Amino acid sequence: MVSEAGTELHTEEYNWAGNLRYAAAEVREPRTVAELQDLVAGASRLRALGSRHSFNRIADTTGALVSLEHLAPAIEVDSGSMTATVSGGTRYGTLAAELQRQGYALHNLASLPHISVAGAVATATHGSGDRNGNLATAVAGLELVTADGGILTARRGDTPDFDGMVVGLGALGVVSSLTLDIEPAFPVVQTVFENLSWDQVLENFDDVTSSAYSVSLFTDWNGDRIGQAWLKARTEEAGGAERASFYGGSPAAEARHPIAGVSGSTCTQQLGVPGPWSDRLAHFRMEFTPSKGDELQSEYLVPREHAVDAIQTMRRLSHVVTPLLLVSEIRTMAADSLWLSPNYGTDSIGLHLTWRQDQPAVEAVLPAVETALAPFGARPHWGKLFDAGASRLAPLYPRFADFKALAGRLDPEGKFRNGFLDTKVFGS
Ligand SMILES: Cc1cc2nc3c(=O)[nH]c(=O)nc-3n(C[C@H](O)[C@H](O)[C@H](O)COP(=O)(O)OP(=O)(O)OC[C@H]3O[C@@H](n4cnc5c(N)ncnc54)[C@H](O)[C@@H]3O)c2cc1C
Repeated sequence: MVSEAGTELHTEEYNWAGNLRYAAAEVREPRTVAELQDLVAGASRLRALGSRHSFNRIADTTGALVSLEHLAPAIEVDSGSMTATVSGGTRYGTLAAELQRQGYALHNLASLPHISVAGAVATATHGSGDRNGNLATAVAGLELVTADGGILTARRGDTPDFDGMVVGLGALGVVSSLTLDIEPAFPVVQTVFENLSWDQVLENFDDVTSSAYSVSLFTDWNGDRIGQAWLKARTEEAGGAERASFYGGSPAAEARHPIAGVSGSTCTQQLGVPGPWSDRLAHFRMEFTPSKGDELQSEYLVPREHAVDAIQTMRRLSHVVTPLLLVSEIRTMAADSLWLSPNYGTDSIGLHLTWRQDQPAVEAVLPAVETALAPFGARPHWGKLFDAGASRLAPLYPRFADFKALAGRLDPEGKFRNGFLDTKVFGS
């Protein structure tokens, strides 16, 4: 259907995993920023929708959803400032291919390239790597359509609020474009090792995670072996990928998928073959369904100093979580200064869980997982399933109150508020 304003209207829309149907009455798809401004100004309740890859109701609203998928696509590289400016709905896969074509790179990618830049940044989506901040840390500037339909532009360093605006949870307005730091393109070599020893990995955890530019460990927490380690090495750093063994594990003989029984052909190039960063830093290839599809996800970001203790805690919870799991992933991220980033102020590890798609059973075990990880100050991923509400989240974020005040200033009438924000951010 086409509205009077010329924008597409859709109803009965679901998220990517299909585990939730948006309550929104419609999805609007403006084709210009001016059209977007009119939509925002005229709406009483509205939320920006990215590529729908979140597993909870963070993107939902009882008003209208607005997708930027059809906003005139733009990827403008500025080689002087080494930045690229992109429209908010641009997917990382599209951006990565274009940057590589022009000889540039982003510092990192998430496991999947399918997600929109604005949606990923809004939830502090991350990849892995001891020295790599999450994807939001690459944001050097952004353009926001605010509640009154006006445009607010902000650049890193220009305003003290900038660090509060980047991981915005969609609460501050609709991000129409972002300016991201870029660097010269770099080749990457990816190798998967299988069947590692938990004892060896935990005794040498810092060496394990620093052995390549990006390291991921895949486990079901059960037993004394770790299923897989994925090492993504910049070829100029080499090292890890050329090893004959890795903490008790051996190199995989063919391409692997993190989930047992799923073909490795849907994953990015492995087996030590060097190639562009854009084809190696994500785990999953753009042209296939990432991960499994029929799944749910949760993730807890834990300060690096507690890494080994938190991992041992998860292993002790194996009897609770393993029966519901497709796979778990352990990654690392560098500290940042973004107010609502789960990596705020601390190097972190991510304890990620890809669940079977049984939401009542998953929601029944989340409180046990969160209670067990609470002593480590674990912060949940904003885009995945978690139990904690605002009263438990607020003490974990030193700038939580500042974020609420910023949202109050930018959106005084609560146009961008939704049930998720009411419970997880603004509730008591
Ligand atoms: C298979 C799979 C693999 C994943 N792998 C990873 C991973 O490796 N690392 C990781 O950290 N996460 C991962 N995730 C989670 C995912 O990255 C986040 O949920 C991310 O937010 C999804 O982005 P999206 O574009 O789909 O946003 P949506 O889910 O559509 O929206 C998320 C939030 O962003 C806001 N938003 C979207 N667009 C805008 C805009 N233009 N302006 C303002 N706010 C906006 C929405 O309002 C909402 O609050 C994965 C998810 C899936 C399904």
